[in-house]
Amino acid sequence: MRIFILVNVLLLNTLLLTAQTYIPLSNDTNGLYQLKRQIIKSKEAEIKSITDLKNKEALQKIYTERADDLIKALDSNCYLLRTPLNLYVNTIFNEIIKSNPSLKDRNIRLLINRDAEANALSRGDGTIEINIGLIARLNNESQLAFIICHEISHYILNHSNEDIQKTISDYQSTATKDEINSIAKSKYNQNTRLQNLLTDITLRHRKISRQHEKEADSLGFLYLSNTIYSEAEALTALDILDHIEDEQNKIQIDYSKVFNFPQYPFKSEWLDKSDMLVMVQKKTTSEILLEDSLKTHPDCKIRIVYLKASPVQPNKKIFFQNEDLFFEMKKISKYEVIEYAFYSKRLSYCIYESLKLQMEFPDDSYLVSKIGKSLNIINFAKAKHEVGLYVPLVSSSYNLNYYDLTHLIREWRSTDITNINMLFVLQYYNKFKDEEFLYTSYQVAKANNDLETSDIIHNEYLNKYPNGSYKEKFY
Ligand SMILES: [Zn+2]
Repeated sequence: MRIFILVNVLLLNTLLLTAQTYIPLSNDTNGLYQLKRQIIKSKEAEIKSITDLKNKEALQKIYTERADDLIKALDSNCYLLRTPLNLYVNTIFNEIIKSNPSLKDRNIRLLINRDAEANALSRGDGTIEINIGLIARLNNESQLAFIICHEISHYILNHSNEDIQKTISDYQSTATKDEINSIAKSKYNQNTRLQNLLTDITLRHRKISRQHEKEADSLGFLYLSNTIYSEAEALTALDILDHIEDEQNKIQIDYSKVFNFPQYPFKSEWLDKSDMLVMVQKKTTSEILLEDSLKTHPDCKIRIVYLKASPVQPNKKIFFQNEDLFFEMKKISKYEVIEYAFYSKRLSYCIYESLKLQMEFPDDSYLVSKIGKSLNIINFAKAKHEVGLYVPLVSSSYNLNYYDLTHLIREWRSTDITNINMLFVLQYYNKFKDEEFLYTSYQVAKANNDLETSDIIHNEYLNKYPNGSYKEKFY
């Protein structure tokens, strides 16, 4: 299908001044070598301090793997390094360490993980990680400070290593070994019995980890109270964690509007799931049990009540750094979630998050370019039957709005994708004129075999950017 929208659009020639383009953060790997040295040193210290001689070998193996994994992740671009976001979070981290002298010599380091999940963790070797997906959801600097304090506390209380030791001794205990032997010898119900055994062990660990959360909250609260930050925000941070799923489901993208064009109307049957093999499995009792305890994982409501008992000091600061800076960092985190989804080839997720962020920032060409590029790659993958590399198989556990998008992308034929993509991207042609957008527009027109349009875009690009970075890439 030929789409003649360009001519009209070019006549209008009303370049909106509100247009903007997000520029992704770029990592500065200076200092990466030292960071890896620190990780190796921590590992060596941990191995030296193993007291459980019976399980020494197993522990040594786990600590080594943990350090290797982290180094591999650092080399695979899973973390942000020396970006403005690092600088911002490190300022909070330094305030916490400075205000709690006992932490000074504990070799704690803070990393920013590019993961989209609203999570943070303590690896157990002194490495604390905060996901950008979490920063994107918080509302102030003190909340972030509390979460850092909470993760530091897990490390100081040695929770992670304690968990590892406990798991190993659990699996190697005589009782467990006897049960496994007896299951192996039995003729019936092997699967069920093995399941039950695993469920038992998991539930036992969940109980411990719930206790650990409480302890990390208490100590974290204490660390926070020594800083300039407001302790009251520890409670609001937990409340956010408690409501994350509701928040996610609040935003609904209406695909029948977003992907509806007079020249290519949206078909309601694209969203019809009756012909799909819906993968809803009957849950086993142990799954229901585990699910129940998972729900209490953040245990946030209980944790809030528990923390409420702690006294709160007046006159503390919700923001220590400039308040606007926090919201700038939150915004950056939302964009970086998209950048990383694209980088790690999770394209349906990239499109979903971009569409969501478009509701907040409709004048940002970065988001349109990311959607255009992603759909283009998915279209080429369709021809090679490799869509599964970029679009996960639908599953009942996804939020329904995202599930609809993955379903839609899988339903669309190649001609649907190329037409929809072209109409979607080029509707912004009078608005955006940056290099990335123009080159993406060129690519989607080309994929749609609209050579007339792609030539016009090519020429406009060369006119505007005679020495542009995509100059040699036109085909
Ligand atoms: Zn925790």
